[in-house]
Amino acid sequence: MPPRKTRRPALPAATDPRFRQASQELHLLGYFLKGTVLKRMMRCGHSNCACHRDPARRHGPYFEWTYKVKGKTVNVKLSPQAAPLYLAATKQHRQLKAALARMERLSRTALSQLAKQATNAD
Ligand SMILES: [Zn+2]
Repeated sequence: MPPRKTRRPALPAATDPRFRQASQELHLLGYFLKGTVLKRMMRCGHSNCACHRDPARRHGPYFEWTYKVKGKTVNVKLSPQAAPLYLAATKQHRQLKAALARMERLSRTALSQLAKQATNAD
């Protein structure tokens, strides 16, 4: 099959500095994960253990990464060494989503202005 030519969209380059800044933030992102990292303190199976009487003496911390797939929550146990990595990656994901949301808002405004200009030019 011949290679398909990608058509350039009929969009001018984004000139809004806020849009370009958000775009820069995306470039600086590292690996990311959706979901959240939880830190839990647990009670054990021994009913005479101190953890059952005193919440401060529960075992742990144990770490879990939870996220949703098609509405279902998935829990993944994490080692104490893995937890900070996963925590950092979920923060990256929140930054990604925030930057995308900002870019979408700015795009909406910019596109309505471009559409007006195009209409007035006719
Ligand atoms: Zn215990």
